[in-house]
Amino acid sequence: MKIVDIRAHESLLPKQDKNWKFALAASGMSEGWIVSIHAEDGTIGYGYASSMAHYGAPHETVGGALNRLFKHVKGKDSRQIATIMDDLDHVMIGNNQAKAGIDCALHDLQARQLGIQICDLFGGPATREIHSLRILPIKSPADMAKNARTLANKGVRHFKIKVHGEVDEDVARVAAVRKEVGPDMHLTVDANQSYAPKDAIRALTRMAEYNIDLAEQPVNAMDLIGLKTVTAAVPVTVEADEAAYSLDQVMTLVRERMVDAISLKISKLGGLRKTYAAAMICQAGGVRYRLGAHSGPQLLAAHGLQLAAALPGIWYSSELTEFDGLAEDPWEGLDLREGVLRLTDAVGCGVLPKAGSNLPLKGN
Ligand SMILES: [Mg+2]
Repeated sequence: MKIVDIRAHESLLPKQDKNWKFALAASGMSEGWIVSIHAEDGTIGYGYASSMAHYGAPHETVGGALNRLFKHVKGKDSRQIATIMDDLDHVMIGNNQAKAGIDCALHDLQARQLGIQICDLFGGPATREIHSLRILPIKSPADMAKNARTLANKGVRHFKIKVHGEVDEDVARVAAVRKEVGPDMHLTVDANQSYAPKDAIRALTRMAEYNIDLAEQPVNAMDLIGLKTVTAAVPVTVEADEAAYSLDQVMTLVRERMVDAISLKISKLGGLRKTYAAAMICQAGGVRYRLGAHSGPQLLAAHGLQLAAALPGIWYSSELTEFDGLAEDPWEGLDLREGVLRLTDAVGCGVLPKAGSNLPLKGN
């Protein structure tokens, strides 16, 4: 089916918490671009290109990359996803955020035309329920504990405590959240690269007393030897996030066994196909994987859910429900209840623009 049009629509969505911050930035807004791909029969596929600057490219750059890449998509046969994405890798190096938006929209279009779900394109649903891991942005220990209580009351059982490289303060954050939510809840920490290796070892060894399941990216993304050193030294599963920003980086981390686990994200890896490939590399190399923070509207989470459902090897809860923290979301269709995201029977990625959102729907 011929692709007759492809468009980018700006998506700037304020969060409920205007003071949301983590170790790399303050971020009260979820920034990105919606990609819509229009086939000649009127079917539309949707994808989301995240433009959070810490992924490498800021908002305007992702928008510019999309417009350059669109010329290589328009007029093509929409079924030839592999060929189109391979071509995009030849005409532009990197820019995975933009490519992810196009890859997701192509898969959505394909699934809608076939009347199936995207997960059916990746082997079908191995699971229909994904437990939600929710992020606690950096605040005082008492305020983070309070936020954890609010989420626990909504049914959330997995929490990610953002920390920022100050050992004593960060241990106090973990202690406060553990005290508030009790022993049965699952806690993880994410330093977003903010520790020196020895501080990371000191912090994680102390945090382990509060029973944390996972520690994300403790040291600088470029410091692979530091990352490997921390992984070997602490009694906690260490996960790479910022160090795994492309498929070749995932390959290096797995081949050298530098971490215990890797956080996979559609936006940083360049789409569903490459994220699936990264999962297979992890599986083959004995490194754990799950889907990390898919921060954005329901559209991005919907693509994450479709892929997560088709990956039986995911070892831990994934982060597909940050849309719940947006002030408003122009998308609808996801089923989130009691901290669990459930696969529905809706075709494609499973969500559509809300009426009145100014996003294109079939026929307009
Ligand atoms: Mg992270």
